[in-house]
Amino acid sequence: MKIAIVGTGYVGLVTGTCFAEIGVNVICVDTNSEKIEALKKGIIPIYESGLEEMVNRNVKADRLHFTTSLESCLNEVEVVFSAVGTPPDEDGSADLSYVLEVARTIGRNMQKYMLVVTKSTVPVGTAKKVRATIQEELDKRGVSIQFDVASNPEFLKEGNAINDFMSPDRVVVGVESERAKKLMSKLYKPFLLNNFRVIFMDIPSAEMTKYAANSMLATRISFMNDIANLCELVGADVNMVRSGIGSDTRIGRKFLYPGIGYGGSCFPKDVKALIKTAELNGYQMRVLHAVEEVNELQKSILFEKLCKHFNNDLKGKTIALWGLAFKPETDDMREAPSLVLIDKLLKVGCKVRAYDPAAMDECRRRIGESIYYAKDMYDAVLDADAMMLVTEWKEFRLPSWAVIKKTMEQAVVLDGRNIYDKKDMEEQGFAYHCIGH
Ligand code: NAD
Repeated sequence: MKIAIVGTGYVGLVTGTCFAEIGVNVICVDTNSEKIEALKKGIIPIYESGLEEMVNRNVKADRLHFTTSLESCLNEVEVVFSAVGTPPDEDGSADLSYVLEVARTIGRNMQKYMLVVTKSTVPVGTAKKVRATIQEELDKRGVSIQFDVASNPEFLKEGNAINDFMSPDRVVVGVESERAKKLMSKLYKPFLLNNFRVIFMDIPSAEMTKYAANSMLATRISFMNDIANLCELVGADVNMVRSGIGSDTRIGRKFLYPGIGYGGSCFPKDVKALIKTAELNGYQMRVLHAVEEVNELQKSILFEKLCKHFNNDLKGKTIALWGLAFKPETDDMREAPSLVLIDKLLKVGCKVRAYDPAAMDECRRRIGESIYYAKDMYDAVLDADAMMLVTEWKEFRLPSWAVIKKTMEQAVVLDGRNIYDKKDMEEQGFAYHCIGH
């Protein structure tokens, strides 16, 4: 089987590489020629564990190819996956211009039947627009060619993307024809040989499933952040509350961690887009409005704790940041809470020394040299008046506190992810602040 994946970002590159890994012949397409040239040389544009090795293995095996031209490969393939970006428009709705551009290119160039699958996160109704756009181009050409559209939202998590794709909890597929259903079953069967969990449904339900899933997860985070903030006020410990409620199987343990707000490329934009979809249909998503509000406030919470600790006297203080990426195991800094924090610290005249195992280049690209990029986590705390733990990378879990205490100007730690033990930190002589107790 031969397929094309359009858009070689986090989702497209992982999807293409994983399909190649199970023996499918894959052509990855991206309009960004720098990206494609780099990939042809074996340079992977994103940080994702295990991806580089898998890309190179499949390129060598001649199953994975890269091109900037969808036109040139379109008629060699049976299925086209569209995994281009759907960033938020100014009003919060998903910008579909890239998705529809791909549809136009397909309509202008297709010569035979094909299945066009949208993998990007797109609002309900997008498949209809994709179908109409392709049909419009076919009509302009005066040709009649059969095609199907399908929706196959992606649930992979950055940082664990290959694992998520190779062994998914489930694969959601929205189809409207038997032919499309058969093609999608054939493609996904190897991933789910022993536990075939492709959930087929109609296309609008598949499109909605992705937004409902991300909005539910964002809701859990904001809910726990609200509970954490209240815990502080009433003298409760959110870590205990978390294990207390998480052991109820109706609630479950996952995604109950309070922190400094969710970020990344998906939750913020998908919550916004679902709110917008509701508005367009005359409905208010009241819970999701509150989820957003709590998240915005939470991004400032560590800064507020810092202000309180130093009685608002922050000018000239040196602040170390451990972690810049929006979560561990990725270099992605889209909507990262660290950006809000850095901005606030610089505005009040602090010097910032930051270290992240993967996101240093990405941070430089975004904010330039306004902060010091440390060589490692110990260099970051040199002469610092406080250290803020922003992203819970594994390597930050068990640092040598004795060394750090000697290195820092003042032994102050603000733990935005609750990874250290309060009692333990205080016994070692640190002023310690965390979230929710
Ligand atoms: P990304 O920005 O990393 O990559 C998108 C790529 O599409 C870019 O390389 C861009 O150059 C390319 N592109 C744009 N227009 C094109 C065109 N006309 N032809 C060819 N290439 C084109 O985006 P991403 O993070 O991979 O996300 C893609 C989609 O998947 C989004 O809708 C996102 O919401 C969804 N999604 C993302 C994740 C995630 O963790 N990143 C997870 C699940 C779903």
